[in-house]
Amino acid sequence: MPDTDFSQYADLSPFELKDMLLQIAGSDHERMMLNAGRGNPNFLAIRPRRAFLRLSEFAIEEAERSYGYFDNQFGGLPEREGIVDRFHAFARGHADTEGVRFVQTAISFITDRLGIDRDDFLFEAVGAALGSSYPTPPRMLAICEQIVKLYVEEEMGGPHTGAGGFSLFATEGGTAAMTYIFQSLQANHLIAPGDKVALGTPIFSPYLEIPPLESFGLDIVDIRMDEEADWQFPASELEKLRDPAVKVFCVVNPSNPPSAKLSDACLKAIADVVADRPDLMIVTDDVYGTFADDFRSLFVTCPRNTLCVYSFSKYFGATGWRLGVIAVHDDNRFDDALAALPEKDKQRLDARYSSLTTTPRAVRFIDRLVADSRVVALNHTAGLSTPQQLQMTLFALNGLLDRHNSYKTAAKSIVRDRFHTVYANMGITTKDGANDVNYYSLVDLVRIGAKLYGEAFADWLTAGERGTEFLFRLADETGVVLLPGKGFEVVDPSVRISLANLTQANYVQIGQCTRRILDEYHAEYSKDPGAA
Ligand SMILES: *Cc1c(COP(=O)(O)O)cnc(C)c1O
Repeated sequence: MPDTDFSQYADLSPFELKDMLLQIAGSDHERMMLNAGRGNPNFLAIRPRRAFLRLSEFAIEEAERSYGYFDNQFGGLPEREGIVDRFHAFARGHADTEGVRFVQTAISFITDRLGIDRDDFLFEAVGAALGSSYPTPPRMLAICEQIVKLYVEEEMGGPHTGAGGFSLFATEGGTAAMTYIFQSLQANHLIAPGDKVALGTPIFSPYLEIPPLESFGLDIVDIRMDEEADWQFPASELEKLRDPAVKVFCVVNPSNPPSAKLSDACLKAIADVVADRPDLMIVTDDVYGTFADDFRSLFVTCPRNTLCVYSFSKYFGATGWRLGVIAVHDDNRFDDALAALPEKDKQRLDARYSSLTTTPRAVRFIDRLVADSRVVALNHTAGLSTPQQLQMTLFALNGLLDRHNSYKTAAKSIVRDRFHTVYANMGITTKDGANDVNYYSLVDLVRIGAKLYGEAFADWLTAGERGTEFLFRLADETGVVLLPGKGFEVVDPSVRISLANLTQANYVQIGQCTRRILDEYHAEYSKDPGAA
């Protein structure tokens, strides 16, 4: 380790660097490897999963009601008539009162709140659980969509007064949503090589890696958050969005890794720029919105311009389920842009979508996303698997039924308590700002060094480019693996800690280790302050 040239790792993506760090951290078998780089939470929602199992069990019984030939190896498709009554009978005899009650409460809620017929809902849910039919419509099952829309509206800071209705496309997590969006923008001539895409940085690293890929050939414009200003966008940075060559603006809100939501003032500043740039397309990734206080999405403040990506992965501890949605308002910039394309491009797109309909120009952008996700030709088998859509809907209902915010309060306090633990063990006091989410923290060595030992030491740390070395030392000496902020377009040498995936005791250890290594750097510095 002492003679290693750490600059050789500078260009690795943070996730690849993590794999190297894991090797080092795991090299001593005595030691436990702590991977605090992962965003995957170590907590997960129980009740909506119980509800899924109970519905699946009930669905099997429903299938067994018909077609019991051949030794009961086959069931038939479920029947709508009387299905709710049969569920109540099933529920009465069931030991898992929590699971069946969740379903019963959900049935009452959607009838009351959305006016959905109970039998219709349960019939869709049972069919979804069985996975016995292709997802129809491929974009999203109709009742699932209505329920998830209500959840998205509530969590994203709606209701959307004046913004009109919106539609959802259910995807295999937020990452599939991102992939589909870039592919469809490209396939529909809404972005082309040489165009500029603005990224609110620091940002989740795939957003940095997708635009320069050869198939997209997009130039990145940095819209940089100001750490000194609570990780908001300064007005001078937002001015860059006025450049007409900037076609798309991608934002992660609340941010990853700084983990701060955009303030109301910042949302307004963006809306003001957008008022002068009505053609600007915005992609907002609001995966962490549910962890923020009083969250409002750009989907609400700039409804026409914005595609919203939401994922159930983090809040419900469900990364393995692969559940996300893309939300688009009915009145939107993307459809306008399609209508305004040159005739030559329209003709090409007529050919592209001619297998779907005789009126390809009327295919909305959101339905193009669905078709493009299966190279158009396989549109009829597109869509998220129906059991996934059912679990997604039950997660959404968990949010909607959380009337006293007990789930929400608990989820937020899990990550926030861990955040305070890490810093307390470094000897640093922290407070909760109005925009702080604290799902991640950027442990900024220079700032912490400055707080503990003054500016001169901080300058020494900066000059010595200790960031990557710090990561390797931490992995080598303690088994703690953290991700470098650098891969996320973070400027200062800092490391990303996820507050979601380790125990409280682990966070104590991370805080103490970080402090110890900094103390050692300081001892080195004290011997010879002149040498970086
Ligand atoms: C974790 C994360 C995702 C990934 O979501 P999945 O639904 O698990 O694919 C997307 N965007 C951001 C900003 C994330 O942090």
